[in-house]
Amino acid sequence: MAKMRLDKLLSNMGIGTRKEVKKYIKDGLVEVNGEIVLDPSKTVDTEKDEVLFDGEKVEYKEFIYVMMNKPQGVISATHDKSEETVIDLLPEEIALRKVFPVGRLDKDTEGLLIITNDGELAHKLLSPKKKVVKKYYAEVLGKITEKDAEKFKEGVILEDGYRTMPSQLEIIESSDISKVYVYLTEGKYHQVKRMFEAIGKKVLYLKRLCMGKLQLDENLEPGEWRELTEEEVNLLK
Ligand code: URA
Repeated sequence: MAKMRLDKLLSNMGIGTRKEVKKYIKDGLVEVNGEIVLDPSKTVDTEKDEVLFDGEKVEYKEFIYVMMNKPQGVISATHDKSEETVIDLLPEEIALRKVFPVGRLDKDTEGLLIITNDGELAHKLLSPKKKVVKKYYAEVLGKITEKDAEKFKEGVILEDGYRTMPSQLEIIESSDISKVYVYLTEGKYHQVKRMFEAIGKKVLYLKRLCMGKLQLDENLEPGEWRELTEEEVNLLK
């Protein structure tokens, strides 16, 4: 979209709320092509016009893409009355850009969460029809055997009668606390935990490692995030 109101452009870029940016404009903090503009409703061309806020160039990017290593203890929602959300972990200038988490990880699940304001990409990643593979690392109580892997391959029947799509279960270590990778192409509520429950096992720890070709950056500690590079965004498209 090339043409946009000046106040909308500035608030979309996370400079402030719509109300705040109107005030900044009226206070003379905003220049367009070298001239101070005092009218928040002025139309600007996001590709051609040069907009400065407080002397600094405002680069217009329609969408923002964040990779977070979601920590345990926060919920995958945008707002909540009592619980801390993944959006609360981001600075205001990003939160203001109407970003949301792409799908949900449980409160006690860690790992790769994409946070964006690109609804089309979110839909593509979540639509079961697109079969985007999500890879999880899980620690499970008790020994996991190749027989269990066979059951996952056939699809297991959850407690509500739903038969899951075939999924791959890769055993890293089978012991008192087994370590496995699980690959899913769908995302039912608590799916990994419920699939193990269906075969009589309990998940003790769960972390998402990949969505499609995008891998969690292992340099990100739980709770840390960074913007995706252009190459990473292209991996998702
Ligand atoms: N499956 C689960 O059980 N929980 C998650 O958070 C993600 C997948």
